[in-house]
Amino acid sequence: MPTSTPPPRVLGVAVPSPLRRLFDYRPAGSPPPGGWAPGLRVRVPFGRREVVGVVMECRERSDLPLTELKPVSACLDSAPLPADWLWLCRFTARYYQHSLGDTLHQAMPVLLRQGRALEGRTRERWQLTAAGRDAPAEALARAPRQAELLAMLAQHPHGLANQAILAQSFSREQLMALAGKGLVDAREEPLTAGTQPDADHLLADPALPLNREQAVALSTLHERLDAYHPCLLEGVTGSGKTEIYLQLIEAVVGRGRQALVLVPEIGLTPQTLSRFRKRFRVPVVALHSGLTDHERLDAWEAAARGRAPIVIGTRSAIFTPLARPGVIIVDEEHDGSYKQQDGLRYHARDLAVARAHHHGIPLLLGSATPSLESLAKARSGEWRHLPLTHRATRHAPATLELIDLRGRPRQGGLIPPVLDAIRETLAADHQVLVFINRRGFAPTLACHACGWLAECDACDARMTLHRQPPMLACHHCDRRRALPESCPTCGSIDLRPLGSGTERTEETLAGLFPKVPVHRIDRDSTRRRDAFEQILAEVRRGEPCLLVGTQMLAKGHHLPHVTLVVVVNADAGLYASDFRALEQSAQLLVQVAGRAGRAAHPGRVLVQTLHPDDPHLRLLARRGYAALAEQLLEERRAAALPPFRFLALLRLESAKEEAANELGRRAAGALRDWLTEGELAVDCLGPVPAPMERRQGRYHLQVMLGAERRSALHRACAWLTRWLETTPEARRTRWSLDIDPQTLS
Ligand code: ADP
Ligand code: ZN
Ligand code: ZN
Repeated sequence: MPTSTPPPRVLGVAVPSPLRRLFDYRPAGSPPPGGWAPGLRVRVPFGRREVVGVVMECRERSDLPLTELKPVSACLDSAPLPADWLWLCRFTARYYQHSLGDTLHQAMPVLLRQGRALEGRTRERWQLTAAGRDAPAEALARAPRQAELLAMLAQHPHGLANQAILAQSFSREQLMALAGKGLVDAREEPLTAGTQPDADHLLADPALPLNREQAVALSTLHERLDAYHPCLLEGVTGSGKTEIYLQLIEAVVGRGRQALVLVPEIGLTPQTLSRFRKRFRVPVVALHSGLTDHERLDAWEAAARGRAPIVIGTRSAIFTPLARPGVIIVDEEHDGSYKQQDGLRYHARDLAVARAHHHGIPLLLGSATPSLESLAKARSGEWRHLPLTHRATRHAPATLELIDLRGRPRQGGLIPPVLDAIRETLAADHQVLVFINRRGFAPTLACHACGWLAECDACDARMTLHRQPPMLACHHCDRRRALPESCPTCGSIDLRPLGSGTERTEETLAGLFPKVPVHRIDRDSTRRRDAFEQILAEVRRGEPCLLVGTQMLAKGHHLPHVTLVVVVNADAGLYASDFRALEQSAQLLVQVAGRAGRAAHPGRVLVQTLHPDDPHLRLLARRGYAALAEQLLEERRAAALPPFRFLALLRLESAKEEAANELGRRAAGALRDWLTEGELAVDCLGPVPAPMERRQGRYHLQVMLGAERRSALHRACAWLTRWLETTPEARRTRWSLDIDPQTLS
């Protein structure tokens, strides 16, 4: 279809490059039917390569003479990429001060990055023709299988997909034979097509009758389904949050809209998915790391065209385009995996807020232990606060019992009264979960003669002792070393493991309880695919057993037969330098505790600590997370820290300490001058060494920016990035800017 408007003279194209600008090209080749427009992918020459970029502007002018512009090599789309997705990428790039081209690139499926068309794969759906419907019974008397196939298809007035037919042990040849006789024919349909039931037949499994609190929460959500309506659903594990998600989704999908559900990396388990899939008759599209590139593109396309009513995925799923957005749900909204920690450092929860606001749709954030950011919003009334204080099933959540570690002999990190509790639990035929946040055998190896500790050559860190297989490994840079036979400093052979990791606790428990299986769950023991699921399946059978694991075990998994949870050491977060450490370790403790006593039996949670009198820990144990969070919020306010202040962190790294330092000093100096001149209320601290200054053989420094107003911080960050981009020395030092950093390391 020819367009009446003449083509633009210049296309401003975002290309995958760290440079924060568009590159101008000349339109060339045949434009798509709708003419040149923002959102079309183009193949363009860039440096010595050809890359896939996205047209962002159609203009008449360029800063360069038009004759110097290179032409685009090809337009790759017949229509622009989805508008909501383009909006989100633009917003993300601007908010995080990241290159738009790189943002777009990261936010699209791999096959689109490579230039494939935005088309999902198709399949054949077979059905009877009029002749097939009228065929007399004896027509296929000599081909009984074909007759059976015809009979099967007759039962399915909407037809059957190719795969479904082959799955019934019919062959392609039988199908083609019927087609040859004009009795059946096929049409193409998207692979992800599902039959869309009407609102009355949406549910495969009935919704549960809600308890009072759940009913209040859901009716609050129902009040405003057509506007931006941010709500924080705060409820302990097992209080029925997921049931609320399901019923909210039911309302949204029933109105013909789509639901996007984000879950933490660790939370997209087969159980979670099957719970969603069992409830609804409509397809639930899951975006997880196990998808092939083709499957990912199919899912993306189905969501963009509105054929996927329910999309569920981890962090990057926030970038899924939606034709008819209806709600965004973020489960375990406090979870650290929502923040990407390298490259484009976005926070999926924060983008969910922006996106829901943009679309004017409800936003539901759920957690047993909400982030202080979200709690502050709920307390101020900016967001609705929906509390669920009771467990939907019988038992109240277990309270934490603090166990004093001081001066007690330990075996595998555990002291005698705790070992007794484990023995009793196993004797009652229940299961025990031992949580220890250290993989490996021991945090390090020490010489008892001279005090030497195994340290990493490349990092300011100790190497972890592993036994399976035996070695020293640095968990920060992955360097490995053989175990020394004697002390490298004094030659003594009295080398001993210091402290306990999962392997050592596993070994100790296996020795103490030889009749009971001990399952270790950490990154090392679950490297093999499915290993984790296999262990969980075995544990769910309910035989008494011991589980020893890191935080992989702490979240999300339903372990109904565990009635005792032991935390080997609760102290890591208590006196850490990072201001979020306390919040995060309290969240983790509560999540671990939530594993206990979920089914028929109440649970106990024993928390070993060297600081049983620590006021924060005691507050958490006695009055729970909400009380501690309240206290932490007051402390953050007093110290002018987030959520009462906005931060950004400039990280600098270089193999040469002086180079990073020099650039940090100059950048901070230039920024301070600019801030003073503009009277902008932004603090600039540093450069200071990062908490672990030397990591992977490189020096790490940081400059911290803080402001009470986000807009002021934003302007300062924009200025700083521009300064770094235009200062030649900055090219020799690696730098990155982290807006709303989740960790200061
Ligand atoms: P959460 O997401 O807060 O951990 P779930 O929604 O998974 O809680 O609910 C915990 C358990 O309680 C699940 O087995 C769920 O089926 C059940 N449950 C939830 N709501 C109800 C209800 N209203 N009536 C009965 N059982 C419920
Ligand atoms: Zn020594
Ligand atoms: Zn290292």
